[in-house]
Amino acid sequence: MRLIIVGAPGSGKGTLAGCIKSKYGYTHVSTGDILRENIKLETPIGLLAKPLLQEGKFVPDEMIIEIVKNKLLELKDDYVLDGFPRTLNQGIVLSADTEIDKVIFLDINYDVILKRLTNRRNCINPECKAIYNLNSYNKDTCEICGAPLFQRDDDKEEVISHRYEVYKLETAPLVDFYTAKGLLVRIDASGTPDQTFEEFKKLVIGE
Ligand code: ADP
Repeated sequence: MRLIIVGAPGSGKGTLAGCIKSKYGYTHVSTGDILRENIKLETPIGLLAKPLLQEGKFVPDEMIIEIVKNKLLELKDDYVLDGFPRTLNQGIVLSADTEIDKVIFLDINYDVILKRLTNRRNCINPECKAIYNLNSYNKDTCEICGAPLFQRDDDKEEVISHRYEVYKLETAPLVDFYTAKGLLVRIDASGTPDQTFEEFKKLVIGE
C-alpha cells in the first residue's frame, strides 16, 4: 500500500511510521528527517532550510516537491509518507501522478501536543532515529544504539505554538481534501504509541 500520515506536529506521525516500518517492512519517508539530514551535511538544501526549520516555518513547496518526487522514483510500493504533503498545493501535486491507498489522520488537541513536544528527545544516529519522551525515559543516551539524544530546535516551546498555527492554516485543509476522495482514516492519537498502532492495524490493515 501507499500510505500518507497527516497530523499536527507532535501527533505521532514519525512514531507510527516507525512501527509500520518495523512490523510490515514499509519504507518510511520523512521529509523532516530528509531536511534535517541535509542541514547536518550543510548541502545547498540544508543551508536554505536551516533558518526556516528553526523558526517553525515550512520550506518552499517547489523544493520539497522536488525532493519527494525524486525519492518516490526510487521507491517500490509499501511506503509511508510522513510530513508530506503538508499543504493543499503539495497534496494536489502529489495526486496528479501518484495513487495513494489510504491517508491516516492522527487526531489530537493542542494541550497534549505541547506536553509531548517539550518532553520529546530524539536519537542523534540517523540509522536509528528513536524518539523518546522524558516522562517515560529520562536518560541522555539511546537505549537502542547508545548514541546521544538531542532536542530538536523546533521543539522549544516558543516555536511549537507557531508550528501549530501554521499546521491549522496550511495542513489541516488536507483532511477535507482526502475525506472528499474517500481515503481518510481518522485515528485518535491522544493515547500511547501502542494504542495508536493498534487502531492503525484494525482500521487500515484489517487485523
Ligand atoms: P513535525 O511534524 O513534528 O513538525 P517534521 O520532522 O515532519 O516535524 O518537520 C519538521 C519541519 O520540516 C517542519 O516544521 C517544516 O519546517 C519542514 N518540513 C517538513 N516537511 C515539509 C513539507 N512537506 N513542506 C514544507 N516544509 C516541510
